[in-house]
Amino acid sequence: MICVPNVNSIRKLILGEAHDTVYSIHPGSTRMYYDLKERFWGYGMKRVVAEYVAICDTCQRVKAEHQRPIGLLQPLKVPEWKWEEITMDFIVGLPCTQKGHNSIWVVVDRLTKVAHFIPVNTTYSGAKLAELYISRILHDSLDTKLRFSTTYHPQTDGQTERTNQILKDMFVVEPPI
Ligand SMILES: [Zn+2]
Repeated sequence: MICVPNVNSIRKLILGEAHDTVYSIHPGSTRMYYDLKERFWGYGMKRVVAEYVAICDTCQRVKAEHQRPIGLLQPLKVPEWKWEEITMDFIVGLPCTQKGHNSIWVVVDRLTKVAHFIPVNTTYSGAKLAELYISRILHDSLDTKLRFSTTYHPQTDGQTERTNQILKDMFVVEPPI
């Protein structure tokens, strides 16, 4: 074990060898500290190493390049089969029909963009909706994957929301008789 004196030039030499010569690969501070600890001891070495890595120009540039830009859309993978992946939403707050429906369940196939508008009631259970889904939509495949949309993942539901807007516009232009 080599005891490193508290002399800046000697410390810099060792830190440089361990971090940014052609034989080192700019290790992070934790990794670098554990490597050095095997052979060297110095007062406050952990902090010294962390400071050295923090101001390394190369490390900062690499870090900036690898950081993901925040706020970009994450596109969903394109489905290969009809009704393999769907998006859905409910248009609620509509006046009740004679048949007891007060909302519209909008289901859009992500591949073909075919939309189904199914009259439902807000009190319908999940089982009832599943029954409706099978009878109204599914004849070919039950392999549909649900991608639940929440306020925190609005990109999941862009398609349905757009369809809902079109539907709402239709209501305005052509009010039901
Ligand atoms: Zn570095």
